[in-house]
Amino acid sequence: KVRVRFAPSPTGPLHIGGVRTALYNYLFAKKHGGDFLLRIEDTDQTRFVPGAEEYVIEALKWCGITPDEGPGFGGEYGPYRQSDRKGSYREYAEQLIKDGKAYYAFDTSEELTEMRDRLKLAKVASPQYNTITRETMRNSLTMSSDDVENQIAEGMPYVIRFKMPRKEEVRVHDIIRGWVLVNTDTLDDKVLFKSDGMPTYHLANIVDDHKMKITHVIRGEEWLPSAPLHVLLYEAFGWEAPKFAHLPLLLKPDGNGKLSKRDGDKLGFPVFPLEWKDPSSGEISSGYREQGYFKGAFINMLAFLGWNPGTTQELFSMDELIQAFTLERVGKAGAKFDPDKTKWFNQQYLRSKTDAELAEAIKPISEEMGYQKSDEFLAGVCTLMKERASFIPEIVTGGIYLFEKPETYDEKTVSKKWKEDTPDRMRSLMGDFEKIENFDSSEIEVVFKAFLERESLGMGAVLPNLRLLVTGEGMGPSLFEIMALLGKEESLDRMKTGID
Ligand code: GLU
Repeated sequence: KVRVRFAPSPTGPLHIGGVRTALYNYLFAKKHGGDFLLRIEDTDQTRFVPGAEEYVIEALKWCGITPDEGPGFGGEYGPYRQSDRKGSYREYAEQLIKDGKAYYAFDTSEELTEMRDRLKLAKVASPQYNTITRETMRNSLTMSSDDVENQIAEGMPYVIRFKMPRKEEVRVHDIIRGWVLVNTDTLDDKVLFKSDGMPTYHLANIVDDHKMKITHVIRGEEWLPSAPLHVLLYEAFGWEAPKFAHLPLLLKPDGNGKLSKRDGDKLGFPVFPLEWKDPSSGEISSGYREQGYFKGAFINMLAFLGWNPGTTQELFSMDELIQAFTLERVGKAGAKFDPDKTKWFNQQYLRSKTDAELAEAIKPISEEMGYQKSDEFLAGVCTLMKERASFIPEIVTGGIYLFEKPETYDEKTVSKKWKEDTPDRMRSLMGDFEKIENFDSSEIEVVFKAFLERESLGMGAVLPNLRLLVTGEGMGPSLFEIMALLGKEESLDRMKTGID
């Protein structure tokens, strides 16, 4: 059975790249009738940010990416927060020591700095604790076993490091990238267990993926460099490794560098699903939810950042995404984030709603602005304005003249169209409109056209002025429909006020 996990570290809010990783895991799991787990990887206590875990959970819930197992979601493989499993990792690190695959290291931070400085002087590009340098350091490979025992008995702080094999080729198979080959000489002896009694990400991640029976590891490209170590760890434990898929980076809209949490609102669009208040600086970064995005549009947009269905279809519900998604159709190249396309998705979602649904959504907004209108009237507003809006509130703000009389008149139209004889003509048109009994748009149009005929006037000489009187604007949706919605009394009243 397919089992995948989303394993964020609560070091801050989830950014859109993180949500995409969660989404792809979720789609893959659901497509294969499998399980999607949420695991909180909080073994690095120095980077813990209060509120981050709650944020992740709220964000996933908003997106409709609901974990089958996870903290607060139940499941048989818990606990799902690594700090709650901390007692279970040491035995695995010690197991590796016993098998000669890992070792104790007692070096102080001064000794480590000294080693790096020494290597820098010798012009070594990236000084590391590795198969060569470990021979000059204080660890259980260079010390006698008595010394090691004494140090431990005396309570000397130590870490446990992975004993990277020398000159071996590690082969990692990635579903998206194919085979990735790395020579172990380029890798360092990563710390698996820290002096504070906590495992590092690498150890905890492998142990938990194994214990939680994870079949596929789907995560960001930034973890690809860790994959060879992970493969070696699985080998060292004698466990079968899960399959790997490393997702392409999310790039800034200009393609220059990766989109990061630190971009906050600097690029002019949110990088977070929900608003985030930084607990230490108090700084607030905006979120897609608060900016009025439909979650369906947000998810639909994210799905296309790195994946495509291979057809021209762009609008997908979550269920359709589940059906269509395959890892084979995820690209290798970085995906540029496109804020305009994101708006476009929202606009499409908005248009797909019924007028009644939209009316319900604009009701609180218009009431907040002090307008008390019937549901029927609001639905009429939505019919007229929805093609022109990308966000719900724009239905109201873009059609504010449907709620109140114009106070100003579009200057360009006034200067270009409003002539000396216009007031008289408008009065005459008013007289015609007054006679209409059934004030609907087709009736208004008939009367309007008869008026043009009688007075031998063109559309362009009259319609812009009529729109000006009724709405104050130079452009907008069908004027006859606007007038019908406003009703006879209100329309004529507006004409009268405007003419005088
Ligand atoms: N805790 C890691 C992160 O924050 C998880 C990486 C992985 O999926 O292995 O992204």
